[in-house]
Amino acid sequence: MNAGLIELSYIVAAILFIFGLKMMSSPATARKGNFVSFVGMLIAIVATFLYLPQLAEAKLGTVTDLHYDWIAYGMIAGTIIGLLAARLIAMTSMPEMVALLNGFGGISSLLVGWAVYQYDVVATIAIKNSTSADTLTLATIFLSVLIGGVTFSGSLIAWAKLKEVIGGKPTVFPGQHILNILLVAGAVTCAVMITKDPTADIANYLFWGAIGISVVLGVFAVIPIGGADMPVVISLMNSYSGLAACAAGFVVKNNILIVSGALVGASGVILTVIMCKAMNRSLSNVLFSGFGGASSSGGKAVEGEAKAASPEDAYYVLESASSVVFVPGYGLAVAQAQHVARELGELLEENGAEVSYAIHPVAGRMPGHMNVLLAEANVSYDQLIEMDDINPNIENIDVAIVVGANDVVNPAARDDETSPIYGMPIINVDKARTVYVLKRGMGMGFAGIQNPLFFKENTRMIFGDAKGTIQSLVDEFKN
Ligand code: NAP
Repeated sequence: MNAGLIELSYIVAAILFIFGLKMMSSPATARKGNFVSFVGMLIAIVATFLYLPQLAEAKLGTVTDLHYDWIAYGMIAGTIIGLLAARLIAMTSMPEMVALLNGFGGISSLLVGWAVYQYDVVATIAIKNSTSADTLTLATIFLSVLIGGVTFSGSLIAWAKLKEVIGGKPTVFPGQHILNILLVAGAVTCAVMITKDPTADIANYLFWGAIGISVVLGVFAVIPIGGADMPVVISLMNSYSGLAACAAGFVVKNNILIVSGALVGASGVILTVIMCKAMNRSLSNVLFSGFGGASSSGGKAVEGEAKAASPEDAYYVLESASSVVFVPGYGLAVAQAQHVARELGELLEENGAEVSYAIHPVAGRMPGHMNVLLAEANVSYDQLIEMDDINPNIENIDVAIVVGANDVVNPAARDDETSPIYGMPIINVDKARTVYVLKRGMGMGFAGIQNPLFFKENTRMIFGDAKGTIQSLVDEFKN
């Protein structure tokens, strides 16, 4: 196929990626955005397939060595695994799945760098005692290998922490940062020495050394970070996997891989920054502070007694409420209470109340977690209200129903300067006229700290699984 047409297809694919990403920033258009990006990727893959014979001829002088069968096996296996994972993995395990996918992206880039190094450097030196790979190619090979290795092992550690295969607590030891700096210096030294003289006997060992160092570095970079911060780490790893893919694109001289890698790298960084802002923490604080090492650390002791209520008690208040806001959190995802929450919302509306759903940017365990769950339950997008839009009006809300949220409604973040989460923006539910908190017990949230909201005068705790509690409220309304 004509090289100009291939490049044109790549430009079309890149435009579709950009539009797809833009659409994914709103729940109303996210599905369409996913589809648009899928079409872009399909165009990119088909165009690359059609380009392969030309690339092979330019590189190998023949097209007979092209193994479409191997590519097909890989695509079929990947499609089956991807379909099964998407169908079988619970919504609550989505961050773990994203962590693994980032890891796969990292190892792919590492393998691309390794394969090109073996072919263009090791094999050509063995035959001709010289290499055709220029300094830029060697540099990009190292970037794809080093960033890919860090992404691979770092993502696996993030997965293991979230899955609780290993403890979620930060593993910190003296001299950790110095060790990490030494590892980076070691990897860069290997890269520079090989680039200076790729024909040296030691070069191949140095290459393996660089791979080993990058994998170890990924482990040491992530183990000091607490499980609570893993979603941020995953977003950062997502960005790294994009940068590694971008470097791999330079290695194999494929423009669409360069562009898509750069897009993933940039969007991962933007998401990381948004998450840090929503938690009022800097990225360096997330990466290096060992946050989450001690539970219940810091913060004033909470005094008073939490007052319990039954669903029947809550029914009488809700029945006369004219405005109700649901504030979902991680417990909604655990209880899978989104469908029954929507049903209760509809009953409240039939009863004359104005109903909305307030979304905190870091509620749950991944960005957009609550949006996805509520969209799955067909809650109208118009009813979803961002934290910054609900807070100015929250004093006029009759009832706030906190469904399995804890940290994101913790007033200590606003009022207690000694609290570890002080400064994190919250949904000010404590300012609503009445607050019902639906949770199983007095368990702490992800940050592992007490929540003064539960002890406030206008708060009532309804203990039990959120789905069961809301179902009881629905039954009360229906009866
Ligand atoms: P949270 O603070 O983790 O609290 C969740 C609460 O849900 C728990 O206190 C738990 O209390 C309750 N719960 C669990 N299962 C339940 C069930 N079946 N029914 C009813 N309640 C249940 O959640 P959050 O308020 O959503 O806050 C999210 C946290 O994750 C924040 O600290 C945020 O900074 C952090 N984080 C999120 C992201 C993100 O992208 N979303 C990224 C980084 C960090 P009981 O055990 O007593 O039931």
